[in-house]
Amino acid sequence: MVDATPLRDRRALVTGASRGIGRAIADELAEAGADVALTARSEKDLRETAAQVTERGRSTTVIPADLAEPEAPQRIVDEACQELGGLDVLVNNAGLPAPWKDAEDLDRSEWDQLLDVNLEAPFFLAQAAREELADGGAIVNVASIAGMEAAARMLPYSVSKAGLVQLTRDLATAWADDGIRVNAVAPGWTKTDMTEGVRGNEQIRSQLEATVPMGRFGEPDEIAPLVRFLASPETSYTTGAVFVADGGESI
Ligand code: NAP
Repeated sequence: MVDATPLRDRRALVTGASRGIGRAIADELAEAGADVALTARSEKDLRETAAQVTERGRSTTVIPADLAEPEAPQRIVDEACQELGGLDVLVNNAGLPAPWKDAEDLDRSEWDQLLDVNLEAPFFLAQAAREELADGGAIVNVASIAGMEAAARMLPYSVSKAGLVQLTRDLATAWADDGIRVNAVAPGWTKTDMTEGVRGNEQIRSQLEATVPMGRFGEPDEIAPLVRFLASPETSYTTGAVFVADGGESI
């Protein structure tokens, strides 16, 4: 029989939980039985996600933080552990979008800020959470198919996501002996604020949809179950894997 609450009484931390895919992940983990700590910059939006988690009958805590700040990862993990009584699952979902510029026009501050949030912060969150996650914990990184194929105008977003895929593999190897599984989910085009600009332009939207065999954008609710699956004991022999959810775009 399928277990409807595979994460019963597990404690999870979700970054970028204020909206979009992160909010759907928080809700999915709560439905699967987990208590969920939520972090992002917008406290107001985090509180809306927290209300959804509470409606599922699970505990939650809201930790407003900017992941571009070097001290944020340790503080977030400390607060999550304090409020939830420990940590079993870390979901590195927060991300800044591509600036959509030609490579020759990118400046250093854009490069640094994007790499800080999308790649450095996930590593330092994982490092801060390592001891708590030992002996059965799981990390799920939300990468992107943009990190698995060439994407000229998506620099440095594509580089950050390629780095996150490699980080997933390296940490999976490094921490297998500690009993920590590390996996990634790589979405394709998904209906969130991040893609509002391209979806709002009819011509660009139909061009993009034409590259997807399923012919449409995905919904956050179509990404979140993969994160839940990789976080749960159902995938206890899976580590270093990247699960793609892109309507077939990358095949
Ligand atoms: P979104 O709606 O723009 O949400 C991004 C989330 O990241 C928000 O919760 C945002 O919260 C948080 N965030 C951004 N900068 C932050 C910072 N400096 N510090 C802390 N939190 C920060 O985007 P989404 O589509 O849900 O994206 C979620 C993840 O999926 C990202 O990693 C993205 O790269 C990935 N992804 C998305 C797509 C897509 O088509 N949408 C495709 C592939 C991969 P605040 O603004 O409140 O801080």
